[in-house]
Amino acid sequence: MSQLAMSSKPITNTTGGRPHVMVVEDEQDLQDLLRYNLSREGMEVLCTDSGERALELARQKLPDLILLDLMLPGVDGLNVCRTLKSEPATAGIPVVMLTAKGEEADIVVGLELGADDYITKPFSPRILMARIKAVLRRAAESQAVDDQDDDCLTVGEVTIDRGRHEIRIEDEAIDLTVTEFRLLNLLATRPGRVFTRQQIIEAIHGGLAAVTDRSVDVQMVALRRKLGDQGSYLETVRGVGYRFKD
Ligand code: CA
Repeated sequence: MSQLAMSSKPITNTTGGRPHVMVVEDEQDLQDLLRYNLSREGMEVLCTDSGERALELARQKLPDLILLDLMLPGVDGLNVCRTLKSEPATAGIPVVMLTAKGEEADIVVGLELGADDYITKPFSPRILMARIKAVLRRAAESQAVDDQDDDCLTVGEVTIDRGRHEIRIEDEAIDLTVTEFRLLNLLATRPGRVFTRQQIIEAIHGGLAAVTDRSVDVQMVALRRKLGDQGSYLETVRGVGYRFKD
């Protein structure tokens, strides 16, 4: 797809206006680059280089999305994320972390604190924009998904029938355990979003202490096998967790 085609589709926030994006980045060159690329896509951009200031601005302006560098002087990105997600007014603002290579442990912590996605530096502006648009789109859709709990979700040849607790591939029912069903439903409900193993355990087992990271991996292997060709929708994100292909 050409960039022109991508740019021609206007992106809006949940109320139909121009999305307001806050950039928290202390490297000036990178902050400028982000401001330029986001503005060019029709977004309102607000920048800061400090974690403290990011918290103040987030509370005042309630942006539609926050692009958050993790390595900041003073209050670092993870603490900014933790604080935002702990306050009701800002908890719902999607956070996309900017991380350096080798920060998988921080990525896992950030996702568990409630960050929606992450982008590893260096990144291409095209990838960055695609990820940001996907997060904005998911934010707009998440309410609709919550309201459709009993509906069927079809991805590729897989149909997840939430009402009947059943999976079908090309109209043939697949025999899944309750855990496998919950696992597939969790990931498929938010395509593209990475879930850490701990988030998966909490979502499908209520955080039972007896369930280990390793058991999530075992369930994933079993689920992929049962889905056959369609199992390739379930992607492993090395060092971080799992996601359903967007
Ligand atoms: Ca930094």
